[in-house]
Amino acid sequence: MTLVLGCIADDFTGATDLAALLARSGLPVSLRIGIPQERRDRNETAAFEVIALKCRTVPAEIAVEQARQALDWLQEAGASRFFWKYCSTFDSTAAGNIGPIADMLMAETGATQTIYCPSFPENGRSVFMGHLFVGEQLLSESPMKNHPLTPMRDSSLVRLLTPQVNGAVGLASHNTVSKGMAALKARLAQLNSDGIRHVIVDAVCDGDLRAIAAASFDMPLLTGGSAIAGQLPQFYLEQGLVSFSTHRQTPPKVGDAPIVLSGSCSAMTRRQVANYAGKVASLRLDPIALSHQGASAALEWLRQQRADAPKLIYATAEPDEVRRAQECLGRDKAGQVVEDALSEIARVAFDRGTRRFVIAGGETSGAITQALGVKHLAIGPEIAPGVPWTFATVGGETIALALKSGNFGGEAFFTDAFDRLEAA
Ligand code: ADP
Repeated sequence: MTLVLGCIADDFTGATDLAALLARSGLPVSLRIGIPQERRDRNETAAFEVIALKCRTVPAEIAVEQARQALDWLQEAGASRFFWKYCSTFDSTAAGNIGPIADMLMAETGATQTIYCPSFPENGRSVFMGHLFVGEQLLSESPMKNHPLTPMRDSSLVRLLTPQVNGAVGLASHNTVSKGMAALKARLAQLNSDGIRHVIVDAVCDGDLRAIAAASFDMPLLTGGSAIAGQLPQFYLEQGLVSFSTHRQTPPKVGDAPIVLSGSCSAMTRRQVANYAGKVASLRLDPIALSHQGASAALEWLRQQRADAPKLIYATAEPDEVRRAQECLGRDKAGQVVEDALSEIARVAFDRGTRRFVIAGGETSGAITQALGVKHLAIGPEIAPGVPWTFATVGGETIALALKSGNFGGEAFFTDAFDRLEAA
């Protein structure tokens, strides 16, 4: 099939979110975890190929190199348009990777200008006058200010991006976007003639996203969250750049034995864990204890549970507790012991017959899928906006994985997820 858009995502749940929104078009979407090692066979590519990296918090030069390899693969697979996907809350450290990767992708694809559009109105993320809002709060006043790895303490995307890129950062504000595609195109052209190659674009509703997609779908490089990407397929279809294949895939059958593994400390995940912990057997992990004893106590607990009974294992904690663990172990070590433990637990759960995994947390999902040896996911039914069930093969067995980034899904997400799979 014609590969119409090659996508690079900075983490795993970001990639599944993007894949889910592209899949709403009904066109085939393929998600590959890490730089694919297999041959770049143009006959086997989907309309949308998404490569999931785990580069959000690694040093910039490593992140850029990973993205360059992903780009090489996508170009060889036939892509000529590209999408650089990061979180709708613009997660990055001050030495962050969003800008350096965009600069490299622009240079390699010959893009003279690109847009930055993290808005995801359906999930409460909007950008107004260059400032990012989470619901009704500025990003810097939202729970994102306490994120364990990428605390967001500024809401101005111009200020956040400027130190990360070569050249000035411009803004196409809502005054322009709300006037529609032609006004936005004119604004982008004017900024380009002023030498401004990096443009933050306001969007507060899906109508804004449609205008932005109409004005920019043929740029060689677009950057942003999944919602702007979700608007692109209709333009590719209208332009005849891609068309529907004759059959749609039905989801494969997977064994039951469900487990929820949560390493996300985001506000919504904390509510989801509290909701689900009351319903199924659950175990809380303490990073400080894990740093002394590893996952042995948790594995013992797992072995005592009925293999087919639903269960929840989580390191999810309130900001105070996260801070305590980070002060004791250091930020990276605290995150690492949790990711290592949940990875080992996932492997043991698989060996004991678990085939349905719900994983909460972007970094956590990356670590667990890697530990399970998952390389390629087919995209299945959407559970909540941006969170689909996905299917993979591990040791010859089909497993279902729902990879949820921190703040996605409603309070009953874990129950909803398993119900959705039953209904598929
Ligand atoms: P989200 O999608 O919510 O951002 P991530 O999995 O990407 O979640 O990031 C959460 C990070 O916090 C992970 O590295 C995880 O290992 C770490 N973490 C989880 N629980 C704790 C805890 N109790 N203390 C400190 N760090 C934690």
